[in-house]
Amino acid sequence: MTDRAPYQRGIMDAVSDPLIREIVVMKSAQVGWTEILGNVAGYYIDRDPAPVLVVQPTLEMAEAWSKDRLAPMIRDTPALTGKIKDARARDSGNTLLHKTFPGGHITIAGANSPAGLASRPIRIVLFDEVDRYPASAGTEGDPIGLARKRATTFWNRKLLMGSTPTVSGASRIELAFEASDKRYYFVPCPHCGTFERLEWQYVKWEEGKPRSAYYACKHCGAVIEDRHKPQMLAGGEWRATAESDGIAGFHINELYSPWVSFGDTAAAFLDAKRSPETLQTWINTALGQVWEERGEAPTFDRVLQLRSDYQSREVPEGVLFITAGCDVQKDRVYYVVRGWGHEMASWLIEFGVVYGDTSQPEVWGRLSDVLHTEYGGRRIRQTFIDSGYRPEAVYAFCRANPEVRAAPSKGHESLSSPVRMSKVDVTHRGAVIKNGQQLWHVDTGYFKGLVHSRIDWPQDQPGAWHLPADIIDDYAKQLIAESKITLPSGKISWVRHDRENHALDCEAYAAAAARMLGIDRMRRRKPEAEPVEPVPAEPATHQPRRGRVVRGRFR
Ligand SMILES: [Zn+2]
Repeated sequence: MTDRAPYQRGIMDAVSDPLIREIVVMKSAQVGWTEILGNVAGYYIDRDPAPVLVVQPTLEMAEAWSKDRLAPMIRDTPALTGKIKDARARDSGNTLLHKTFPGGHITIAGANSPAGLASRPIRIVLFDEVDRYPASAGTEGDPIGLARKRATTFWNRKLLMGSTPTVSGASRIELAFEASDKRYYFVPCPHCGTFERLEWQYVKWEEGKPRSAYYACKHCGAVIEDRHKPQMLAGGEWRATAESDGIAGFHINELYSPWVSFGDTAAAFLDAKRSPETLQTWINTALGQVWEERGEAPTFDRVLQLRSDYQSREVPEGVLFITAGCDVQKDRVYYVVRGWGHEMASWLIEFGVVYGDTSQPEVWGRLSDVLHTEYGGRRIRQTFIDSGYRPEAVYAFCRANPEVRAAPSKGHESLSSPVRMSKVDVTHRGAVIKNGQQLWHVDTGYFKGLVHSRIDWPQDQPGAWHLPADIIDDYAKQLIAESKITLPSGKISWVRHDRENHALDCEAYAAAAARMLGIDRMRRRKPEAEPVEPVPAEPATHQPRRGRVVRGRFR
């Protein structure tokens, strides 16, 4: 066991070190914790007999641990088999939750049951999964305090506490780890030899291919693969990062696990980050870190406070040009039309939805009508349409609607620049066709962040954003359906709280379109400055169609 996971040895060494009174292990899942706890219990039965108490979160879990973990270990370890009689044997004196051996005994208790926690004196207390303990054992108070009291009479007492952490501020293991000497396992880079901690922020992968994940050395940047892990783990060492008086703290995460690949971790992360609940579980169980409650997003009331004294489809003074962003769903297309001014001041001109099966042509005709609306006598300068859901239909629509510069766009979690273009039309030999279809790659994380920060912008400052007086509540709700969170590793991630997040998606694309036109470079200093691109010619070829278009009010 410890040969494959050598970091376990340092924890076992602390157990037998007389200078250490308490051992705290803050850990992820899949690092072999169950075996560590079993080995510690076995050590005190075989090598250093003493009264031992094992505390599990509940009485049921205490029984299960005794049956599924302790019993098989006693049975399969010759050194232990002779020392503890089977509870089923006649006059063994042993039960499921209490067993004797020469020189000591082991009691297994539930943190929810005060009876098991408060009887005989105990020298060794092993607390398992402390973040799942109740605040109080029945009416008797903190289960850890109760169990601690029982060990006070022994000068050579020892406490071991282990857990996967939960929410910051409410995590017992976090609190205990903070009071320890905070040891991390430093491993040598196979390329440059520098010792470093394995941290999530250095796990990289090609977009869309989490299985290709690798670890990028923080020091030399070289690629570290799963195959390097055994030699790194074998050469690693625990290093304390804080001062402490007799409390050894160990932190270990899944990246060290010999049973989990970097690709497994990356794939699980992408899966988990769809909701805050699953993301919390992932951060706790994969990284062994606490969850910082609450992402950053403006409030619903704050969004509605941006309502000004103009109506939807009116173009207020100050608008230099207009962009649009569209979010394509199976049976509808959401759209945002937005006017832009100096210093990135902005006015929402229209938010709406066009209903219809997007695999059929009708809905696209109606969307074309909407986008050809002349707002205050002006036409939309640039439209970005999310092509992720129906690429073929979106490409066809964009080719057919050059007047509003409709362009297929693809959202990315992050990019090296906020917006960039690539050509998608290629010949059968793979050569790019000149003047072929362009695809705009959009860093949606960047633009959602921009939208949210502008909502929180002071109304009396240059660059303020505005909403029409008749904007619906649903718009505000959708705009804050996602929030930005900063992972413990420092990575930024967006999590969705509500399935209906279309307004925010549309706004991100409309803002990306404005960025593509150079809005970030337009300063009030030069009031005569024209938008960076000339207004396209407006051929009078477009004939409006009839159909179901809900502008501003729906649902
Ligand atoms: Zn290196």
